[in-house]
Order: sequence, then structure tokens, then C-alpha cells
Amino acid sequence: MDLKWEFTSLMHHEMTHVFQWNGEVKTPAPLVEGIADYTVLKANYFPLGFTKPGSWDRWDEGYVHTALFLQYCDELVLDFVAKLNKMMRKTYDVSFFQNLTGKPVEELWKDYKAKYVNKAFEGIQG
Ligand SMILES: [Zn+2]
Repeated sequence: MDLKWEFTSLMHHEMTHVFQWNGEVKTPAPLVEGIADYTVLKANYFPLGFTKPGSWDRWDEGYVHTALFLQYCDELVLDFVAKLNKMMRKTYDVSFFQNLTGKPVEELWKDYKAKYVNKAFEGIQG
């Protein structure tokens, strides 16, 4: 992998930390890191093949696992991540997910897993 590409990828991640809200430190670190990696995904600077959508067991695993889940939420609600970020300006509560999508985060996670369960197998060949 070339160094310039990796550097740009890292910069997207780190710059997100500069601009993002963290609920005055109440937002759990895995979600903060997930949002940073979500930015990398959106900018198309994520090392593909590293992980597959729908893999892993928890939405708050952090980094790319959380980022892929956030991308799914973004498909449900326009600008989901931007809205979530704004809500986290002063505080954080897991109910923010439900406020934005109408579903608790655990249910969203199940839907997300269900959506990708078959695609994960297809992905092995590609
Ligand atoms: Zn980070």
C-alpha cells in the first residue's frame, strides 16, 4: 500500500477528531473512533478487504466495525452521522439512535446484520 494513500487515510480519521463533538466526553470512545473511521469510508480512503459489512458482534466494537454500521444508519436517515454529531455537542445518550431513526440501536444492529448476512458469503470470493 502506498504511503501517501495511507497518510491521507489517517488524516481523514484524525481531522474528524478535531471537528467532531463527543458529548463533553460522555460519548463512548468506540463511537468516537467509529465516526472518525466513517469519515475515512466516506472519503473512499478505507483499506478495502480489511473487514466486511455485517461482520462482528457489536455495533460499538469501534473503528471500522462501527463505521460500517453508521454508514448503514446513514442509508436510513439522511445525514444521520452529521445529525448524531450535532446531538453530541453537550451530552450523549444511546437513545440518540432511536430519536433519529425511530428504532433502538440494538434493533438497528440486528437489521444491519440481517441485511449483510448473505452478502458476507459472496464477499469471500471477491
Ligand atoms: Zn481516532
